[in-house]
Amino acid sequence: MPLIEMRHICKYYQTGDTVVKALDDVCLTVEEGEMVAVLGRSGSGKSTMMNIVGCLDTPTSGEYWLAGQRVSDMSERALADARSRTVGFVFQGFHLLPQLTALENVELPLTYRGIPERRRRQMAQDSLEQVGLADRMSHLPRELSGGQQQRVAVARAMAGAPSLLLADEPTGNLDSVAGREVMALLHRLHEQGRTVLIITHDPAIGDSCPRRVYMEDGKLKNKQ
Ligand code: ADP
Ligand code: MG
Repeated sequence: MPLIEMRHICKYYQTGDTVVKALDDVCLTVEEGEMVAVLGRSGSGKSTMMNIVGCLDTPTSGEYWLAGQRVSDMSERALADARSRTVGFVFQGFHLLPQLTALENVELPLTYRGIPERRRRQMAQDSLEQVGLADRMSHLPRELSGGQQQRVAVARAMAGAPSLLLADEPTGNLDSVAGREVMALLHRLHEQGRTVLIITHDPAIGDSCPRRVYMEDGKLKNKQ
């Protein structure tokens, strides 16, 4: 059973008289444990695809299966559950809450899942240790470099041990050194068995991934 199976997914946006085909008949299968780079120009539909994969958005048509479940059949509650248990998200702009420490940021999604305080603190600490930030847990985001903030975001995404990590341009706001560190971290998570989908327009990042797919005007091309 594949972890991700998109069957003929379309996503259309109507703005005034024009319809934008953000996704146009996209089919994609990703097995558990794969690391896939999604490449393509700005506006080609990469983020739209990721939002559907992560159950943040629903397609206009087509079928999407996540971990053997047909997402279109899932209740709101089941969807929220899938989002918080199966998927971890990392975004270009880190999306950390500025008034919370690194540890509190990592803990927050675990709070929503109802994990008791002591347990979730331990999970958050373990996750921050894994990304090399054991000595920065009580820092606020503004006291951290961009690369460190993104590693906090990776720790937050991974703290609840989701099977799928979705990263949308995770190095887009970072200098090349910090970007390489974050990529090394994502590769390590993949080696540990996570399924990783990374969106990028950087061909070098694509080259570092074992599998690449390409978006072009809402269409997915599997060319190598
Ligand atoms: P990418 O992530 O590859 O830059 P996006 O998935 O963000 O591309 O966008 C794909 C296309 O869909 C673009 O033409 C974009 O303008 C359009 N689009 C994305 N979101 C919306 C929206 N909420 N409303 C209207 N058009 C949108
Ligand atoms: Mg995008």
